[in-house]
Amino acid sequence: MYFKIDDPIIRGSGRMTEEEIEKAIMKQLKMRGLLLADVKLIREMDRGIEGASMIIPATVNKDGGLGKNSSIATMEQFKQLRKYVRKLLKDLCGEIMKGNVPIKPYKKKGTTSCKYCSFLPVCQFDTTMKENSFRNFYDKKDDEVWSLMAQEEEK
Ligand code: SF4
Repeated sequence: MYFKIDDPIIRGSGRMTEEEIEKAIMKQLKMRGLLLADVKLIREMDRGIEGASMIIPATVNKDGGLGKNSSIATMEQFKQLRKYVRKLLKDLCGEIMKGNVPIKPYKKKGTTSCKYCSFLPVCQFDTTMKENSFRNFYDKKDDEVWSLMAQEEEK
């Protein structure tokens, strides 16, 4: 889970009660990440959860099950993810060891990896050169991501 250290400014009508302001702040500070799809565990992480949690990305439905918009993965999926990341890191290290380090920054929704990069002043990345181009990232549905990872595993 990720918790953003922040002091959010809440926009409201000016007639918000203390409780509403508190809720709006909690919403802004809600943790992000991936939870184990285990309702018992989720209830331990947020003991007051009914409906959408204010602190973790999970929803518990009235029937006691987890809501569709919960950010969850099964134990099998966590294992798959760990295996995929391990292979990815191994492959990346292998490429670096071979001296294969092309400049390939990403671009996603108008932002790029160069935006906050401390190497920007000395970096040779230049989109006017045909071999320098961004890798475009697009959001994908969770199912698609799991299936792509499974395909990679089969290779
Ligand atoms: S500024 Fe250069 S090193 Fe930094 S992310 Fe962009 S391309 Fe990579």
